[in-house]
Amino acid sequence: MKRFILLGPPGAGKGTQAKMLSERLTIPHISTGDMLREELKKSSELGKQAQHYMEAGELVPDNIVNQMIKKRIANNNSEGFILDGFPRAESQAIALEKTLKEISQEIDSVLYFDTDKEIIIERLEGRRVCKNCGAIFHIKNMPSQKEGVCDNCKGELYQRSDDKRATIENRINVYLEKISPLLKFYTNNNKLIKVNANNTTEEVNKEVLVLLKDKNLL
Ligand code: AMP
Repeated sequence: MKRFILLGPPGAGKGTQAKMLSERLTIPHISTGDMLREELKKSSELGKQAQHYMEAGELVPDNIVNQMIKKRIANNNSEGFILDGFPRAESQAIALEKTLKEISQEIDSVLYFDTDKEIIIERLEGRRVCKNCGAIFHIKNMPSQKEGVCDNCKGELYQRSDDKRATIENRINVYLEKISPLLKFYTNNNKLIKVNANNTTEEVNKEVLVLLKDKNLL
């Protein structure tokens, strides 16, 4: 079994790395941000409850995300999973431990994508996402072949509304407020592996693979 958590600020490249790992290990990439955006698109009750928090760059209340993850993990029939964007607070990490314990599962490793603030801002402001398949591009660092069009599925690329400057600052502050206890939690569990996420996508991916191999997790 391979159960991973990717921790780090918005813009650390968690989503990009999660997709790469997910393909390599054939285990699902579970992103609470993607799941919430799906709910928003469907205008579901859950989406409506989450919308204003997301637009402001605030955390959606724990009971919503904890339930969402509990259901998703219970329905998981793969040999593991990669969690991206969850947990984001110690309270969520505790809820996750409880959920996993109930089904006799355990997290194998927590990859912490350490990233400098200027790099986060630059990455988020330039990020473009495919409306159709969710592929991630960057206007400078990873441009699509044709501007505004996804290389994989020809879907339309857009800028997430929370990737605008004013919301970015708030998201970083929210992240900073919550990260220390989370890091402590997983350090105490002996699960934390630190990755230098200031590097390019390929370099970070290489480092991740080496670190996981060292721990016999590949
Ligand atoms: P992300 O795509 O991970 O950057 O998430 C986008 C937004 O979804 C965040 O700014 C939050 O509003 C919300 N969100 C995603 N994951 C969580 C979580 N674990 N807890 C609370 N809110 C979340």
